[in-house]
Order: sequence, then structure tokens, then C-alpha cells
Amino acid sequence: MLMSDFQYMNMEPNQSDVCPECGKQISPTDEVCPGCGTSLGLKAWERERDRLKRLWVISVAFFWFSVIFQGTLFVLDGTLNLVLLSVIGGMMILGLILKFRLQYHERRKPQQ
Ligand SMILES: [Zn+2]
Repeated sequence: MLMSDFQYMNMEPNQSDVCPECGKQISPTDEVCPGCGTSLGLKAWERERDRLKRLWVISVAFFWFSVIFQGTLFVLDGTLNLVLLSVIGGMMILGLILKFRLQYHERRKPQQ
């Protein structure tokens, strides 16, 4: 359930043929919108950055939620939950990957 929600948030509707600012039809080769002059490369970059940031925040939130939940379980009856431990490990790796991807993306910001 949680993983399918996560995958759902990873998907984004294809907006590449409409200007994100004014909604006018654009062709994939346009550098700027013919309607309002918005730099489309920069807009696409900003959308991708926001998407990566959002996914990163979600993975960090999942990580800490599982850590706190597992910590509470351990304090209460001394058990380690295998599912929670794999979520903790998985989210830690995913968080690191997303962080690296975000840093790489920040360096490729198009010039306005
Ligand atoms: Zn436009």
C-alpha cells in the first residue's frame, strides 16, 4: 500500500507539449514559449528539481517514521521487526540516491 503510493507519486503527467505558465501549445523544440516568453528549459529544470526534492522529503519522512516506530517497539518489548528494518535500510539508500541526484541536477541548471 505504502510502496504503491510512493510509486504513484513518482509518476508525473506528461506536460511537455503545453506551456506550464500560460497553457499554450508548444512544440518540443521550442526553447521559449511563443505565447508568454517563458524559458521552457528552466521550467522543466525547476519541475524536475521540485519532483526530486519532494521524493527526497518523502523518503526521509518514511525513514524517520520507521526508525521511531522500530525504536518504540524495541523499547516496549525488545523485538526487531524485519519489515521495518528493511524499510529503514531501503529508505536510507533511496534517500542517499535522491540526494545525489538532486545535487547533480542542481549543477545542471540552465542559464536564463
Ligand atoms: Zn507560455
